[in-house]
Amino acid sequence: MKTLINVKVNKKAAAKLRTGYPLIEKEAIENPKVLKEEGAILRILDDKKNYIGTGYYGVQNKGVGWIVTQEPEEYIDAAFFAKKIETAVQHRKELMNDPNTTAFRIFNGEGDGIGGLIIDYYDGFYVIHWYSEGIYSFREDVLKAVREKLDFKGIYEKKRFDQKGQYIEDDDFVEGERGEFPMIVKENGVRFAVDLNDGAMTGIFLDQREVRKAIRERYSSGAGMLNMFSYTGAFSVCSALGGAKKTTSVDVANRSKPKTIQQFEANDLDASQQEIIVDDVFQYFKYAARKERTFDLVVVDPPSFAKTKKRTFSAAKDYTKLLKETIELTKHNGVIVASTNSSAVDVKTFKQFIKTACKEKGVAYDILEQYALPDDFRTIAAFPEGNYLKVFFVKVMKK
Ligand code: SAH
Repeated sequence: MKTLINVKVNKKAAAKLRTGYPLIEKEAIENPKVLKEEGAILRILDDKKNYIGTGYYGVQNKGVGWIVTQEPEEYIDAAFFAKKIETAVQHRKELMNDPNTTAFRIFNGEGDGIGGLIIDYYDGFYVIHWYSEGIYSFREDVLKAVREKLDFKGIYEKKRFDQKGQYIEDDDFVEGERGEFPMIVKENGVRFAVDLNDGAMTGIFLDQREVRKAIRERYSSGAGMLNMFSYTGAFSVCSALGGAKKTTSVDVANRSKPKTIQQFEANDLDASQQEIIVDDVFQYFKYAARKERTFDLVVVDPPSFAKTKKRTFSAAKDYTKLLKETIELTKHNGVIVASTNSSAVDVKTFKQFIKTACKEKGVAYDILEQYALPDDFRTIAAFPEGNYLKVFFVKVMKK
């Protein structure tokens, strides 16, 4: 049995939570001593002890738990999770019936009603991401709900809750049959090799699906393409398939090279015709400048925060500088695809970074397209920070 705790929140937080904001922030709580064991059910009350909602105690970087229902009588059990999963599935019907796309998100945390719980689909396999010990304490109920509502070959899981909110290394297999990795999934007909049991990441970031499609269909034909922070080279593969003359992928991680070769080969492309460089992008900028190399299409998709031996990069602080260096190696009338998933940078701020970078470099620019999360990464208006992805296609005109 789960313990049930009455938690009192201050007036300001009460007003916010009543609008549907699901995150229980630490500072909101007036009686924090009652919070002991993660996974406890929290009845959230205002300063007059009026009921606001029910949630669970689970410490994540952003808060100490999530409200999951505003019905005072609702139990958080397997039936509850099953109902939420069923609704989530309804929202992905189109993707589920699309034979050309076999990898997408089926359950997106608070966007589907339960903060801290994410489920991705990879061609018959599900990957459950647990973002706190609190949500993990519901594991049996969630698995029961998954068995009831989803057909699967196998289930894997990612525990993302060590002290720093990081992934905990483990055998991630849960049940069903084990996959044979790398396995091939499809996205708008493009093939990607993924491994569901090799660390926190699988080999593809599912939230960039629409951006990859745009790059392939509208920006690559005949282009010299540069992919910065390329990871497994997914953008490069799409660009090559879209007719790029040549792609250059740059990532500091050693393993990015074999992984990128693998993605090209999964699409019957000759990886030896492409350039795959293991290096710090800031080093590569210097190299490209020396060689006077310029590109028609440059994708820039850094992590929100990264530390290498030489420097730390923070999107909030350093993106403008990164763009200025990118402009240097972009051709006249070339296109920069600038992306960030930093929740510390909102759309307005990001647009300002672009404006400042172009201004300081003395180039005119035109925003051709703008992307946010695709529909399967469901978000709610009451929690704008959940809508973290910002991508701009920027055409730069040099003099
Ligand atoms: N654009 C990729 C995802 C990028 S993930 C895609 O869509 O698939 C961020 C990547 O940045 C990681 O692979 C990491 O190794 C790399 N990285 C972090 N700091 C870097 C740096 N200074 N130079 C080059 N790559 C870096």
